[in-house]
Amino acid sequence: MSFSQIDTYKICPLKYKYSYVLNVPVPPNHALSFGITIHDTLRDFHSKLLFKAVSLSELLDIYEKNWQPLGYVDEDHRKIQFEEGKKLLEKYYEQNKNDKTIPFALEKTFNLKIDGIKFYGRIDRIDKLDSGVEIIDYKTGATKTQEDVNKDDQVAFYAIAAKEALNLEPKKLTYYFIESGTKISTTRSPEQLEQKKKDVTEVIGEIKKGKFDAKSGLHCNWCDYNNICPFAYKG
Ligand code: SF4
Repeated sequence: MSFSQIDTYKICPLKYKYSYVLNVPVPPNHALSFGITIHDTLRDFHSKLLFKAVSLSELLDIYEKNWQPLGYVDEDHRKIQFEEGKKLLEKYYEQNKNDKTIPFALEKTFNLKIDGIKFYGRIDRIDKLDSGVEIIDYKTGATKTQEDVNKDDQVAFYAIAAKEALNLEPKKLTYYFIESGTKISTTRSPEQLEQKKKDVTEVIGEIKKGKFDAKSGLHCNWCDYNNICPFAYKG
């Protein structure tokens, strides 16, 4: 399993069933394509930086090579988003060009078991701190508030993975919102991480029991299955 499967179940168990039990295919999604493009670009950019200086034009070349064209409404939409991506990377370059930090790991994969279930995932970036590490997740969506990040499940999952699968001490958990250039950090205590593991175990238990009731609401508007789901919120 992946932690995003747990997330999907918590949003709506029926959505989980459509996606991971019935494997109902969905059309390509432009937000996903754009997210993958930016993540791959930053991975390649920082990997190159480990060996030599990288200019802005080289970064934009990397972007062009990693561009994922699927899921856009039409050619105009694709072009507009491509230009937006360039602006966003120019900003990222400007913000980071003097940063000499050498990442401890980029796109670090992990495997761990919770309640007998194997989890697989990937952490965008890990930086060493004086004591412990900083987990960094790049985000291409809207910037969240500090309050939202403090409650966010994904960084907590990464902290569990860093601790248990990679044997690291996650002292700082950071979202880097690329569009706004904002970094928001949070922390989780060992007790909070234990609680999160219990939550995951509970979700696994519900999945094992085959409980896939619909949980409709405003989020149905962004659900890939709202055209076929009889419970989709129509408000
Ligand atoms: S449309 Fe709503 S109720 Fe139906 S699967 Fe999606 S999120 Fe669940």
